[in-house]
Amino acid sequence: MGIRENLLTVYKKIKLAAKKSGRNPEVIKIVAVTKTISPQTIQEAINEGLTTFGENKVQELLAKQPLLPPGIEWHMIGHLQTNKVKNIVGKVKLIHSLDRYSLAQEINRWALKKSTKVNVLVQVNVSGEPSKHGLAPVELTGFLDEVAHLPGLQILGLMAMAPQTDNPEETRPVFRKLRVLAENSSKNRPGLALVYLSMGMSNDYEVAVEEGANIVRIGSAIFSA
Ligand SMILES: *Cc1c(COP(=O)(O)O)cnc(C)c1O
Repeated sequence: MGIRENLLTVYKKIKLAAKKSGRNPEVIKIVAVTKTISPQTIQEAINEGLTTFGENKVQELLAKQPLLPPGIEWHMIGHLQTNKVKNIVGKVKLIHSLDRYSLAQEINRWALKKSTKVNVLVQVNVSGEPSKHGLAPVELTGFLDEVAHLPGLQILGLMAMAPQTDNPEETRPVFRKLRVLAENSSKNRPGLALVYLSMGMSNDYEVAVEEGANIVRIGSAIFSA
């Protein structure tokens, strides 16, 4: 199967999952995850109508970006080292992986320097696995209070990764918890609207959509043969 067939499957499954939970499939944004994917193949995906691409390494993102048309949207979805922040501020539409205060400060510093605002999602380690980055759910409230005064940051939502499992059903509680965290955190903060939930990858995006994802990050289900 090629990208076109893969995409048709993904669109169909997103539609079904949205329908199942009474949601509008149109609001669900696909970030095509292109780590290790060549610029030529990314161009094929653009030709098939994809507009938004996610990378998990700054170097890889910066290497590919100039080789592709300027109109597409790039997202940084992987763990972000503080010393790389200066290279991507202004180059990406959304950073999915804000997970500590020192990183927030650095993003803020470069945003102000470059007279811009940086859109970010706060990554939450809902499942508590030591191998995963992200704040513990109990830390979220305090963190949002801490970063609220940083004018260079626009906090738009939350991101999480579910545990790797052969049974996508096992991911449901993780996605549900992220949605509830976003709802509760927005409630008592007038200046804050956590409108984006970035959750769901190739193995579990249908469950994520059923639980409220409006950004799914999909790699292999689009690009694998
Ligand atoms: C690789 C990656 C994905 C996509 O994974 P697939 O299983 O290929 O869909 C999504 N999110 C992050 C943070 C990733 O690193």
